[in-house]
Amino acid sequence: MKYRDLDVLVCPDCKNFPLKVWVIEKEKDVGKFFAARRCEKYCAFHVLSSNLAEIDISTCEECQTYEINAGLLLCEECKRWYPILEGIPILFKSTQRNTKVEREFLRKYGDKLPKEVKVEE
Ligand SMILES: [Zn+2]
Ligand SMILES: [Zn+2]
Repeated sequence: MKYRDLDVLVCPDCKNFPLKVWVIEKEKDVGKFFAARRCEKYCAFHVLSSNLAEIDISTCEECQTYEINAGLLLCEECKRWYPILEGIPILFKSTQRNTKVEREFLRKYGDKLPKEVKVEE
């Protein structure tokens, strides 16, 4: 998924927007051309950037070129989290949760996750 996707993703459980992203692995998708289009409601890339002065925020090119391969989406409202695996955000309602996938994710990345992620087995 791209940073740009966070401009539209809502929590499947409580419909909260925006979701917070925690990036573990990302890569720049080079060789492709993207028509730079600014994020409209929420820009995850620039929110995460610590030095805004160094970034051209007139476009959201980075938001469309960086691919987030592994990470986590966090809903600050209901405190649920969602894994991003192989570039795909696993966004299911709590009734359809795939705990097997989540456990696998935690085994792989558990030590790289933020403290605010409450991990229950
Ligand atoms: Zn953006
Ligand atoms: Zn939520």
